Amino acid sequence: MKKVRKKRKKRVRSRDWHTEGDFAFSHDRAKHLRTGSIPEEEEAPLGIPEGQAPNGLVVSIAGPWASVQMGDEEPLCRIDERMMFGRSSVLAPGDEVFVEPEEDALFIRASAPRRTKLSRPAIQGGRVREQIIAANVDVLVIVASVLRPRFKPGLVDRYLVAAGVGGVTPLLCINKLDLVEEEPKEIAVYREVGLQVIATSCLTGDGIEELHDALRGKLSVLAGHSGVGKSSILNAMDASLDIRTREVSDYSEKGKHTTSASRLYNLPGGVRVIDTPGIRELGLWGVSHEELTFFFPEIEALAPQCRFRNCTHTHEPECAVREAVDAGEITRLRYESYRRIHESL
Ligand code: GDP
Ligand code: ZN
Repeated sequence: MKKVRKKRKKRVRSRDWHTEGDFAFSHDRAKHLRTGSIPEEEEAPLGIPEGQAPNGLVVSIAGPWASVQMGDEEPLCRIDERMMFGRSSVLAPGDEVFVEPEEDALFIRASAPRRTKLSRPAIQGGRVREQIIAANVDVLVIVASVLRPRFKPGLVDRYLVAAGVGGVTPLLCINKLDLVEEEPKEIAVYREVGLQVIATSCLTGDGIEELHDALRGKLSVLAGHSGVGKSSILNAMDASLDIRTREVSDYSEKGKHTTSASRLYNLPGGVRVIDTPGIRELGLWGVSHEELTFFFPEIEALAPQCRFRNCTHTHEPECAVREAVDAGEITRLRYESYRRIHESL
């Protein structure tokens, strides 16, 4: 009897998340979501003119201006007003664009459809719209620290949903390992569910090479709370970058971070990384209540066993998910994240 229960526990936890690369399950569902319920049409920029290839890659954005990588150069280009439609942001680092010279200036006329994206809701022109944080990224590196600031699973779970929605493969980087004797036990949960976890310390250099190797040949985006060490990690991977880091105790950083923008960096070894400003609370864009379970595979796996087909796993009787939480088969922290996100949608 004991053996059987153990087996079931393992099946529930690892189902789908381990198959075909981590989070492949969410990835497939995300494709469906992108063609289905996400109101992307209205937000999509004009396409690249037929027969022409994009000739630039957006590095950073400042209002109507963008730094664009074009071969070895990185000129400042003006975003064509026709792309903006009165919106403050239509492009993001990682976007592939079509740049055209006109008189003395360079204009971005259009951008190619995005393969993947990391986005969140933002208020623009009095409306809630999708704000793209990074485009065409292969990997979302969710950076968290063990201490200063303390590890917060809630934000990690939100980023995992955002990665799933955008079709991006997530990776968890746990930084400042030098501050603790051993890894906090909440982190083991993420290893168990099949997420790639890399522990680093910018102080000792532990794990930096492993992270660098994991990102080789890919375009990644680094995200997490401010102060977890995103800039320090980039500097550790490439000393010549010399990005300014900030003391966690410096409260004035709050203001600074709202104005600082994301930026794409080219590191040695074919590692390309978009650094994002620290995000305190990540709103989720493009996911409904019904779709949320797609991004919690351990919950989705048990849903068919609930009494009600449309069970939300929050209050219904004979809910297999809540029973599994009580039995310790689904981690309570993850379930609580699910509930909080469900409530916030
Ligand atoms: P960001 O806001 O995520 O870019 O974080 P920063 O890179 O600016 O780092 C915030 C603070 O944490 C700085 O004071 C860094 O020196 C410190 N820090 C970064 N990485 C580590 C680490 O691995 N160990 C320790 N002890 N401190 C770190
Ligand atoms: Zn249920």
